[in-house]
Amino acid sequence: MPGGKVVVLDPGHNGGNGSHTAEINKQVPAGRGQMKPCNTTGTATNAGYEEHAFTWDVANRVKDELAAKGIKVVMTRPNDTGVGPCVDQRAAVGNQAKADAVVSIHADGSDSAGAHGFHVAYSNPPLNAAQGAPSSKLTHDLRDGLKAAGFATSTYIGTDGLSPRADLGGLNLSERPSALIECGNMRNAGDAGTMSSSDGRQKYADAIAKAIMAYLS
Ligand SMILES: [Zn+2]
Repeated sequence: MPGGKVVVLDPGHNGGNGSHTAEINKQVPAGRGQMKPCNTTGTATNAGYEEHAFTWDVANRVKDELAAKGIKVVMTRPNDTGVGPCVDQRAAVGNQAKADAVVSIHADGSDSAGAHGFHVAYSNPPLNAAQGAPSSKLTHDLRDGLKAAGFATSTYIGTDGLSPRADLGGLNLSERPSALIECGNMRNAGDAGTMSSSDGRQKYADAIAKAIMAYLS
């Protein structure tokens, strides 16, 4: 039963990052001995709809759906007007909450012609037990859920919507089952159209919430 479960949702970036470059460029531990910038500004559609606003909106829709099912949801940031938090701090939120699942929500920005579709990234090779089978199952459930909802898998990153990564600090530093969704390519007209519409964001949220529930059941 999902009751009593804790889910951490991590909406990528933040609205204040763009005007606080010194703070977000500060180097922080990102796992595997790497140092990386605290955070980044994220991308935007060609019409100027910014990734931080998209991730914040989708994460809140997912939060509402999970909360209605009795899940305790913890967000890695309290609003869309702040700075950061840094990737290591975002991972710490999931660890400290002892989250049953940690899901980061992002959108990509590729200028490759025709590049579109979603992919789900996971830490590989895994650095602890939670990054092994549990994170693999979470990643597959998210991929399967987005596919079942009609979203196309990425034409330009990963394989069949799955992308193993060794360079993402939030995933590397997680001690809980974790995955990072790149919902689509904001530079692609088709994906941008879906992400820019309220109905489109609800469709993402419905698929993500349903997949998280499938993972927890
Ligand atoms: Zn992002």
